[in-house]
Amino acid sequence: MKRTNCPNCGAPINEVVCPYCGTVFYDFTAIDSEKPTYICMNMDGKQFVFRALMVSANIDLEQDEYPLFADNRVVSTSQHYRARASIEFMILQDDEGVLMKVREKKDDD
Ligand SMILES: [Zn+2]
Repeated sequence: MKRTNCPNCGAPINEVVCPYCGTVFYDFTAIDSEKPTYICMNMDGKQFVFRALMVSANIDLEQDEYPLFADNRVVSTSQHYRARASIEFMILQDDEGVLMKVREKKDDD
C-alpha cells in the first residue's frame, strides 16, 4: 500500500489499520475497473477470497427538509442529509477455475 496519512489523526500509515488511533482506512484508489482484483473479506464467521471486477461505484446524496413549527406556523426548516457509498463487484473464476475460496474465520483474521 502506498504511504498515506490517517484521515482521522493525520499520522503517517502504511497499513489498513492506523497504528496510532486504530482507525481502519481502505484506500480503493488502486482498484481499476478494467482489471480484476483480489478481495478478502470476513462475513458470517467465514473468510472469503475471490477475484473480482468492479462493475459499479456510486455515491448517493439525499436531502430531506423538515418544517419547524412555532405557534402552529412554519418558522424555519431543518435539513437532514444522508450519503451512501457503494461498490459492486462481479466475482470471476481464478486461473484455476475456482470461483471463491472459503474458510472458517480465525480470531487473528
Ligand atoms: Zn490514526
